[in-house]
Amino acid sequence: MSKKQFKRRTLFDLYSGNLEIHRPSLKGRFLCPICLAEFSKAALDADNPLVDLAHVLPKSIGGSVVTLECRDCNNRLGARYDSHRIMERKDREWASGSIPKRAVMKLGGDRIAVDWLRTDDGPHFTIREGQFRPGVDKDLLGLLAHKGSVEVQARFANPRSVAASSVHTAMLFMFWRFGYEWILESNADQIRQGLRDGPRRFDFRKIVGHVKSHDGALDNTTVALNIRSDSADKRCFIVTVPSERPEVVMHVVILPGFGAEGLECFERAIEIAAEVRPWKGRGFLISDSPEVLLREPGAASSARDIWNKFR
Ligand SMILES: [Zn+2]
Repeated sequence: MSKKQFKRRTLFDLYSGNLEIHRPSLKGRFLCPICLAEFSKAALDADNPLVDLAHVLPKSIGGSVVTLECRDCNNRLGARYDSHRIMERKDREWASGSIPKRAVMKLGGDRIAVDWLRTDDGPHFTIREGQFRPGVDKDLLGLLAHKGSVEVQARFANPRSVAASSVHTAMLFMFWRFGYEWILESNADQIRQGLRDGPRRFDFRKIVGHVKSHDGALDNTTVALNIRSDSADKRCFIVTVPSERPEVVMHVVILPGFGAEGLECFERAIEIAAEVRPWKGRGFLISDSPEVLLREPGAASSARDIWNKFR
């Protein structure tokens, strides 16, 4: 058995044991935290297993903590949203002039692939290898001289997708930390629905705020949990996720708490998200192993225990 297969099996047992506490009828099963699709352990057998390891913070931006997610959600959310977090990092490097960005210059009907580098004395464009047809440089210079400008197109990280990716991380973080306790709350359904339907239908920027400066306690691979406790109707979980944007240190994802109170805080999330810049509140970093929490006899109430400390 490979190391990965072993890890998948260990986590499957851990989560299905936790699921049994919350839903005794689902003994031996696993529910994907994002889509709630149900799987038996046979889902791990295939060469391309239906349930796979998922990094809470994408691996490509330094994440090392893993949990489980269904393969479809893992692939779909990775391609749709997490890829924009990775692009955000590249955009930052491009903005500082350290790497070029792929772009396209429009020359009449031609689209010419170029590398676009920012420098102190302005933009530099290099025609990419293989794109060079004889005379294309002269044509471009001619167009510039004639029109004074040339159209350049490039892809940048979409802020809506970056926000959705932060929400994806926040959901996986809650699952990693608390198992099914919060994930199965009906309050989490709206977020789940949003991740399924996409940022056009559900604007995640409403529940994602930004912190512009902090005390240096969090490095850029730390995911942390805080609880907003000012008043009952604003009590909610706040997951801080490192940002790759130069002007933003952290994305702050606001997740509803339990029961009617939690639902109300979800309604107020827009207002709270607007308030969190810069946000300083009571909170704590979570760095201990998930096994401890999920395996304890009282695991069913781990999220509520933390929650109740703030009452
Ligand atoms: Zn899923």
